Amino acid sequence: MDPEIDALLVERGIRREDLEHVIAHAEETEDACVNGVTGRYIASYRPGNTTYWVEYDREAGYFRIFRAYSHRMLILENFNTPAKRKETLDWRCLKCGVQLELATVKLTHLEETFATDTPACPSCCRVFVSETDAIEKMGLAEKMLEDK
Ligand SMILES: [Zn+2]
Repeated sequence: MDPEIDALLVERGIRREDLEHVIAHAEETEDACVNGVTGRYIASYRPGNTTYWVEYDREAGYFRIFRAYSHRMLILENFNTPAKRKETLDWRCLKCGVQLELATVKLTHLEETFATDTPACPSCCRVFVSETDAIEKMGLAEKMLEDK
């Protein structure tokens, strides 16, 4: 992990063990997406009230971390519907081998429910939350609800 990423994770309150949990879960279950261009993996894990995301790659004997972020909003499973805007992405579902497409998904936080468009696997409905969406969109919405 590069020092600047390390510093960013400290700022975001993401611990090394959170990263380890995400990677261990992904390696065990193949619950991850893989980028067709870079070959990097992105995986998430929600041990409690926070979902952690890690983008990583396997290198000789260790894992290299490229980014990690988290959100507290919960993505409701199996509520995906195809998005109006069509877009396929460089990421594909590791388990299904299918390219991700935009889907409208449901999110919930503090008893409020939202719908948003995000990449998802059209086969198993695995959702992909980008760093920008987690930090900007979801982060702002979480803060608004918590300040109410
Ligand atoms: Zn899938």
